Amino acid sequence: MRKTIVAGNWKMNASKESVDSLIKDILSGMHEVSSDVIVCAPFPYLSQVEALISNSNLMLGAQNLNVNSKGAFTGEVSANMIKDFGAQHVIVGHSERRSLYGESSAIVAEKTKASIDAGLTPILCVGESLEDRESGDTEIVVAEQLNAVISLLGIEAFNGIIVAYEPVWAIGTGLTATPEQAQSVHLFIRNLLAASDESIAKNTSILYGGSMNASNAADLISCPDIDGGLIGGAALKAADFLQICKAG
Ligand code: PEP
Repeated sequence: MRKTIVAGNWKMNASKESVDSLIKDILSGMHEVSSDVIVCAPFPYLSQVEALISNSNLMLGAQNLNVNSKGAFTGEVSANMIKDFGAQHVIVGHSERRSLYGESSAIVAEKTKASIDAGLTPILCVGESLEDRESGDTEIVVAEQLNAVISLLGIEAFNGIIVAYEPVWAIGTGLTATPEQAQSVHLFIRNLLAASDESIAKNTSILYGGSMNASNAADLISCPDIDGGLIGGAALKAADFLQICKAG
């Protein structure tokens, strides 16, 4: 049985003050939540969140990492550093990293490996652009992104990977995939994994991301292959985020 997971991706939105009140407000509603909940904070705030969530069931994640474990990589952050601050998760392959910072599927696969090697659970994002969808290439694009990870790490790695299907056209746009559109790609992803190992496919959590909010979360999460959400904008408002967490 897969447990519902809701992960908030704050992106580059935080201040010491806002982190303090957001986490305290989320914690105050967690007794009504049965899903696993993760907050993915910008690097400078990992330590602050770590302290605020100690003694709670809220989990911490980062939003990116460098593939190297240490060395002369000015400005970069390794998986071990993220782990050092109590994070268990890290987002890899977010579409903003792929499009704005040129991260290829091969680099995303390397980052997935670096996360797993350090004992972190990667939240591996995949998803098609509007152009891909309109040309009927959604499955080709998503398969290429997943196959890069399977080729490098083998299907067994998916025992420790959370997948997030995030259609790029739905991220931050207010456009959400319909439950039918999302379920269809989630099933495609599960079948692709099942072609290598049925039991791993059955146990892999596949989250939906793309303008999920308090009003549409329940309909999306009730689809058979949608196991929760990766939430951007709505993760910055405690009441909305908690509503999504309760939808699972
Ligand atoms: C995201 O960036 O992962 C995301 C899903 O953003 P939003 O919910 O704002 O569309």
